[in-house]
Amino acid sequence: MENNAADVVIIGGGIIGCAIAYELAKQQVDVIVLEKASRVGTEASWAGAGILTSHASTHEPYPELCRASLAMYPNLASELREETDIDIEFIRSGTLSVYFDEAEAAGLIGLADRRVNRGFTAEVLTSEQAWELEPAISESIVGAVLFPEDGHVRNPKMVTALSIGAAKNGAKFLLGNGVTRFIQNNNRVVGAIVNDETIHANSFVIAAGCWSGDLTAMLECPVPISPAKGQIVLLEAIPPKFQRTIDGLGIYIVPRNDGKILLGATVEFVGYDTTPTVEGVKEMIDAAVTISPELVHSKFVQTWAGLRPYYKSGPCLGYLPSHENVVLASGHYKNGILLAPITGKLIAELLISGKPSLSLDPFSPVCK
Ligand SMILES: Cc1cc2nc3c(=O)[nH]c(=O)nc-3n(C[C@H](O)[C@H](O)[C@H](O)COP(=O)(O)OP(=O)(O)OC[C@H]3O[C@@H](n4cnc5c(N)ncnc54)[C@H](O)[C@@H]3O)c2cc1C
Repeated sequence: MENNAADVVIIGGGIIGCAIAYELAKQQVDVIVLEKASRVGTEASWAGAGILTSHASTHEPYPELCRASLAMYPNLASELREETDIDIEFIRSGTLSVYFDEAEAAGLIGLADRRVNRGFTAEVLTSEQAWELEPAISESIVGAVLFPEDGHVRNPKMVTALSIGAAKNGAKFLLGNGVTRFIQNNNRVVGAIVNDETIHANSFVIAAGCWSGDLTAMLECPVPISPAKGQIVLLEAIPPKFQRTIDGLGIYIVPRNDGKILLGATVEFVGYDTTPTVEGVKEMIDAAVTISPELVHSKFVQTWAGLRPYYKSGPCLGYLPSHENVVLASGHYKNGILLAPITGKLIAELLISGKPSLSLDPFSPVCK
């Protein structure tokens, strides 16, 4: 394989691009990943909280995609550890969703019923039972629901592991320059221009997160994928305060292996701005301290913001209607970490055999 030609060129080295590269490279497909930053996974895939939720909404087929992806995590985590020596810190810690009044209780108990109907476990707990599990939670909660199958993963480590795994299987990564233009021949793309050089391929995958719409627009197929800013606050509490992810008052609290605690996240449609704000940080800290008053004594470590790729009925997975050899894999919004394994698998199947094992028809991109 030359550095300027491959069977498949993937544009974007976030978790989605790297998961696709990993799956393709394992099956001996020549792959080049083009990433505009000097490292992979520096955008949403670094900023995300890494929560893996067992979705149960009745609006199929999206939850089916989520469940299929969650089910892939245990094997993928061991495979990546064997292949790369990296522990992606996948853990089925469970989520404890706490409520402070009866209105919140009704919503969460409804969610518990839906998850049980889908074959997941959900336990409605009294406040005493919840304190037994998580003694650092406020005494003013009214009750809680435990979702034991939920997990989390250390997403920056996962992107690194996927990219190293892909590279070990032959994928090439060209970092530090973005794609600025395409060379087209009728309804095919024949090359992507990076820093005045043309990279040729038989197929192209656009996996550029919230920038994906800019690239499809260059192909006269605008797909409205927009940035949805999310702020995170990192605290440190030693000894660790929680065993599980705690969810309540519109925020989540994720305990990490290293003793740090992540609070997230705001949802703001403010363009490509990634500045953390006092308002966003205050909102999360206020909610966290209401859920667990002891957190007021924890150490404030850091805050950051990232841009989720938002598409109204996302994700968008499949060939662009305008080009027979260009696949779009983006718009994963709040669940891109969760959905990375299944996206990698299905897009690789689409490119290799044309027959993904779950139908991608409901997720087909539409030019607007
Ligand atoms: C605060 C926050 C919390 C989140 N929490 C969770 C969570 O708990 N669980 C979950 O499942 N998901 C979560 N998410 C969502 C998840 O992080 C995203 O859905 C996912 O990371 C999207 O991955 P991506 O690869 O599509 O995009 P990105 O990670 O943004 O990667 C896109 C890449 O494309 C590159 N690129 C862009 N344009 C070009 C170009 N022209 N040429 C070459 N490269 C280009 C960018 O540099 C970037 O590296 C969260 C997101 C945020 C911001």
